[in-house]
Amino acid sequence: MTESEVIRIMRKHLEGLFPKVCPNCHRRFATLRDYLLITEQLGSAMPYDADMGNWNPVEPVGTLTFANCLCGTTLTLSSEGMPILRLWSLLNWARTETKKRRMTPQELLNHLRSEINKQVLAAPNLETKGRRRGNEDIPKSGK
Ligand SMILES: [Zn+2]
Repeated sequence: MTESEVIRIMRKHLEGLFPKVCPNCHRRFATLRDYLLITEQLGSAMPYDADMGNWNPVEPVGTLTFANCLCGTTLTLSSEGMPILRLWSLLNWARTETKKRRMTPQELLNHLRSEINKQVLAAPNLETKGRRRGNEDIPKSGK
């Protein structure tokens, strides 16, 4: 598995968590992009299983990333719901890469997270790209 494959799998999983609603203020985040633009990322991502050296967890604790909603509520995105075999293959990749790069699981995950954020934010926002007609195009309705 290459880093770009890992990023693609993680991004797809994260995008699948949307739409998401803040349980406190009920703000709705339609897409991962919306979420990244509106919320404020909080601290490091937490690869709990990898941090514990648990590379093939039968009951994974999960990997989480935190952000603050505008209302101040802490929201999380997690690996929950990812098929276990896929999770294991990501963890196994992380196990090899952390050794090779001499990084902690947290450092590696933060690196992946920032790459995903960059990709998502660089993508054109299709939803607000609606066609708008300028006034000059509208013929004057004279009598
Ligand atoms: Zn909120």
